[in-house]
Amino acid sequence: MHPKLKIINEYQDFEKKWEEKSKKSAQSHPLKTLKSLPKMEGIDPSTKKNLRLKAFKYLMKHDQYRLFSKYFLDKPFKYGYKLIRSYFTKQPYLRQDDFFLYGVKSMQEFISLLQDPERTFILGFSYCHKPFECPSGRFTDKCIHDPHHPVCSQCFIGKCCNFTSKANTKLLFIPTVHYIGEKMLEEVHNDPKKKITFLITACELSLEMFKDFGNMLRLQGIGVRLDGRICNTMKAFELSEKGIKPGLTVVLDKTQQKMLELLLERKTQN
Ligand code: SF4
Repeated sequence: MHPKLKIINEYQDFEKKWEEKSKKSAQSHPLKTLKSLPKMEGIDPSTKKNLRLKAFKYLMKHDQYRLFSKYFLDKPFKYGYKLIRSYFTKQPYLRQDDFFLYGVKSMQEFISLLQDPERTFILGFSYCHKPFECPSGRFTDKCIHDPHHPVCSQCFIGKCCNFTSKANTKLLFIPTVHYIGEKMLEEVHNDPKKKITFLITACELSLEMFKDFGNMLRLQGIGVRLDGRICNTMKAFELSEKGIKPGLTVVLDKTQQKMLELLLERKTQN
């Protein structure tokens, strides 16, 4: 059998077994879920105003360990030039449904980057779509993704982590924007030749706020828009950054399917 076909068969097998286990776990350990999807604008109109300035101010004000300042001051011309260039670009990403493409011109280009085993793949998940019952805690950068655990087996994050190829892959569970920013900076600052492809879930507000910083680091990848009880105002965003997030976000079903297909593309090459 062709190796690619073998992996596709394995995927179908994985999907079937995962769904069976998930249904059983839902009967024995039902989770608190969203009963219906709230109708919320991705970003509240009042928050959209001067959002780039708000994002810059937020990052600097809450840079607790002075990491952003440290990296920025280390290469001020390089980062300053790229940041300003991004500020003058009207829309520095492409949007396709729930997928925000940064530094790539099409989904096909993203897939070709994913298929390059030399590139480090960063797969990240915002904490706000961890289940309330998450055994690793919601507002943490931990995730046990144990496929036999009754909660993990119902969790989309658990499904992705158990499915994705582990070769040259980093899994990140993201409590704050500073956390993900610092992880990305660590990767690229000390080794500028290192190539990174990312696939990260986040609220539309975060994806919009931090687009210029992604361009500053010349990152290439996709931000996946979350739905459900998202943060669409600065106030909600700031509370969420402190772990105050009573609502649950979700990756929509059709978007989940597409994300798994992208992970499959990576897997067929590793
Ligand atoms: S897979 Fe990770 S995020 Fe999901 S419930 Fe398990 S520990 Fe929590």
